[in-house]
Amino acid sequence: MKLYDTHAHVNLAAFKEDREEIITQALQAGVIINNVGTQKDTSKKAVDLTKGRENVYAVIGLHPVHTISQEIDEEESHFISREEHFDYEYYKALAGDPKVVGIGECGLDYYRLPEDKTLEEVKTTQKQAFLEQIRLAKELDKALVIHCRTQNGSVDAYEDILELLKTEKPPRFEIHSFTSNWDMAQRFLELGGYIGLNGIITFDKSGVLKEVIKNCPLERIVLETDAPYLAPPPYRGKRNQPEYVQYVAQYIAEVKGLSFEEVCEKTTLNAKTLFKI
Ligand SMILES: [Zn+2]
Repeated sequence: MKLYDTHAHVNLAAFKEDREEIITQALQAGVIINNVGTQKDTSKKAVDLTKGRENVYAVIGLHPVHTISQEIDEEESHFISREEHFDYEYYKALAGDPKVVGIGECGLDYYRLPEDKTLEEVKTTQKQAFLEQIRLAKELDKALVIHCRTQNGSVDAYEDILELLKTEKPPRFEIHSFTSNWDMAQRFLELGGYIGLNGIITFDKSGVLKEVIKNCPLERIVLETDAPYLAPPPYRGKRNQPEYVQYVAQYIAEVKGLSFEEVCEKTTLNAKTLFKI
């Protein structure tokens, strides 16, 4: 296999008509897939999708937006988040499946705030669920897959996550869909983390992510699609899928002045190290 999509959601409803084809297509193109859960049912679905398939793995956990019920309405997603408390024993039992390679996506999301809660209430609830998932990752020696989204123009959630990682010390972790600057990236690298990059890098006009790509050692980058979201060109605006991780690799190769093959090979190896495959 030549590429590793470390973060896809073929387990979500966006793929209910053609899950099988989408997975088969990616596997035939040489892409290893992690399907990532966002709460109980989607985590279970991610595990179900590993059955009878080589090179398909699952990451299970509770996304911070699902710790609170609210209506999410954005360019690429519109749904009512279903509130759930992190059920430690449920996820621990699910993680007993050998194809579960990580816990997440978990973390902090201060971008999408419900109208009926204060920021402090949201922070407390999300932090609690995040800490529990770090505890599970430590107990089971699994990689932690971290979601981080800040309030516009700030680095608040990144700072809070750094603080928690320093005290809680999960065994291995990645910052999925990294969107901050090189200074911030270095602080996660110092803690031994990996930087997860997806289609966002191809539409960032600020040049900030280009700096991250140029400076970050290839040994610490893992690739992802976050499908069905964030499709890179030439599929911008369409539904994303694991096979398109190749365009993320292509862009990194261009920015770093490396061959496409080298980026594929090294980032796949990185992901295998991170997820102990
Ligand atoms: Zn995701």
